[in-house]
Parts: sequence; structure tokens; C-alpha cells
Amino acid sequence: MFTPDVISRIRGAVNRERLTDTAVALVGRHSPTRQTREVADLLADILRSDGFVVERPEANWPESPAVAVRWHTEKPGRTLQFDGHLDTVPLPYTPPRIENGILYGQGSADMKGGVAAAVEALRALRDSGLLPKGGILFTAHDHHEGPWGDNRQIEGLIDAGYTGDGVLIPEYLHDRLPVAGRGQAVLEIAIRREGEKIHEVLRPPGLPDVIGAGAEVVRRLKILNTELARTEYPYVGTESVFVGQIHSGEIFNQSPVECRISGSRRWVAGRDVEEVRREFYALLDGVSRETGASVEGEFIFLRDGYRIDENDPLVSALQGARVATGDLPLPLGAKPFVDDGNTLCGRGGIPAITHGPAAHGAHTTEEWVPVSELVRIAELYALTALTYC
Ligand SMILES: [Zn+2]
Repeated sequence: MFTPDVISRIRGAVNRERLTDTAVALVGRHSPTRQTREVADLLADILRSDGFVVERPEANWPESPAVAVRWHTEKPGRTLQFDGHLDTVPLPYTPPRIENGILYGQGSADMKGGVAAAVEALRALRDSGLLPKGGILFTAHDHHEGPWGDNRQIEGLIDAGYTGDGVLIPEYLHDRLPVAGRGQAVLEIAIRREGEKIHEVLRPPGLPDVIGAGAEVVRRLKILNTELARTEYPYVGTESVFVGQIHSGEIFNQSPVECRISGSRRWVAGRDVEEVRREFYALLDGVSRETGASVEGEFIFLRDGYRIDENDPLVSALQGARVATGDLPLPLGAKPFVDDGNTLCGRGGIPAITHGPAAHGAHTTEEWVPVSELVRIAELYALTALTYC
């Protein structure tokens, strides 16, 4: 499949300048989560002027319909999906600029650079005429970055049938091939008591102590974490529960009425999320019963865990394309964060591999990505499609 001629024709079809122009154009639109209308319209225009038929499915978010292209050869085969998000985290906007072969600007790393690379792979496949069968589904959407977004648009795309047989996601993870990832929920806990704030010496007998109850919640969560840490799972390590914030009290000798705790719970693929949720509420109920304080919690589900088959054809197609371009195969590993791949694997039931440019500064005001990395991803995605489809 990957003869030197095929590789050089794909490399010839990937146009560095066109790719860079697309990336700069996308980074040039400020698009925090829930405000991607302008950048989505622009991407749709770019794809249309490239000659693609562009669909704009609303996918649960009519404020900014998603962007989709279904491009197929005449012959039946697998459909490889390229999926990316167009929203950025709500940090101060930095415009695009290119310096010494590096693209800077908000979204260059997370993940408009990757989206532009996927678009260029699609163009290269069409222009080279090398895809023997099957086709490509390209999708781009809003509502990725949590907690500002709630995944509704990728879920809407999946529910409306915008899925391929497998999907590549050009996020900035690049040093491993993630075949497993943990699910994640945010935990918000509020411990309260009746009555007003009061001087400690004036407390009536039996007044619940919200700080003491909060400490008990933290202690039990730590015990749970120790129990969870006993079981190791392949690639992902262990399940966990983590406390990141605790707030209560005004001054040293006043009994407060509220204590707030937040943290996260992570679990492995195959766990019943309802069971994880029930375990959390049961822990809070126990503390409430024993302390007399009201202990309320919110288990805010973000994404489920996932696991993909190491022998999936998408894994071998991606590794084969790596080797063909002179790179080593990627080591199999875990995805440290949750992303749309978790949702595509779980809700969509398709293998999703996150692999993108070696980019830097995601979720900061200093994002950057070498243009050579965008070119690498465009070539790699196009070559992966050749064997996968
Ligand atoms: Zn991202």
C-alpha cells in the first residue's frame, strides 16, 4: 500500500501554505465555547470554496450549527471520521501570528491547528485521487470545553448519525496511542445547618458543626480513594476521588452555616456510572445522618471512560502510516484527559483515537504549534485513511 510513490504523492498533495492559511483563518476568529457561530460559518465557507458539499447540522445547538462534510469514493468501504472542536477556553483572546515556522494564537494548540490539518488531509485525499474505497466524514463543533460547554453538540452529531466507522481526533496528545481513558465527574458538595451564623460561645447545644461534617466528608472520600487505589487497570492505572477545594468560615470564633467542597471522581471503562453516582450520594447521606448537618451533593457527569480494542483496524492503520512516514509506532497508552473521543466511543460506539500535533500551551494564553507538526498530521491522517477505508 505505502509504496514510495504513494507516500510522495500524498506528501505532494498536502499543501503547507493552504493548510497554514486555514489555521490562521480559524485562529483569527475569537470563538469561546457557545460562541462559535462566526468561526463555524468561516470554516463552512472555506470548505465550500474548496468544492466540498458542506452540511450544517444543528446538533442540539441551533445558535451555531456544526460543520460536516461527507466525502466518498464510488466504492464501498469504511468511513474514517476526522472530528474537532472549534471552541476555545474563555481566556483573553490572542490573535494568530506566524514566526519562524510556528503558529501562535488562541486555539492554535487546542485545537484549530489540528482541525486545519484534518481539513488539509481531506483535501489531499481528494486531490491525489489515491483513496481506493470508502470515504471521509469531517465534523467540527462547539460545546467541547467544560464546564462552559456540556458536550451537547458532539452528542447531537452522534445521535443524528454523523459518525464514521472510526474517528481520529487531532487534539494535542501526540506521544502515545491512547487505547483507554477514564471517565470523569465533578463533585460539588454543600454542607449546611439551620439557623444563623453565631459566636462559638453562644451556640445552642447540639448545633451541627458544618466544618466538622466537611472534614468527615473529606476523610471518607480519602478512604474511598485508598480503596480505589488497590485495583490497577491496564493503561489507565486506578480509579480515583480527589478533593481540590474546601471553603468555610468567616472568622476564628464564629460558627459558620455552610462548608463547600469540590473535587473530581474518575472511573474506568465498563463501570456503571449510576453505581458510582449512588456510592457518592450514599457517602454523603452517611455523614449527614451522623453529624446532623444537611449534606447535599452534585455529581456532575462530564464523560464516561472508554477502552478500544488494540487490534482494531484503526490502530493498525495509524501505526502503519506512522511507520511509512519514517516514524516509530506510537506506544499504546492512556488518554490523561477526557475529550470528545470518550463520547464517540461510548455514545457513538465507534473507536476514537486522539492523536494530533505536538502543540503547547492548551488552556493558557500562550498557545503555539509548529506548522511542520500540522503538516505531519495532515499527511498521517491521509495515509491512515488509505489503509483504513
Ligand atoms: Zn481541545
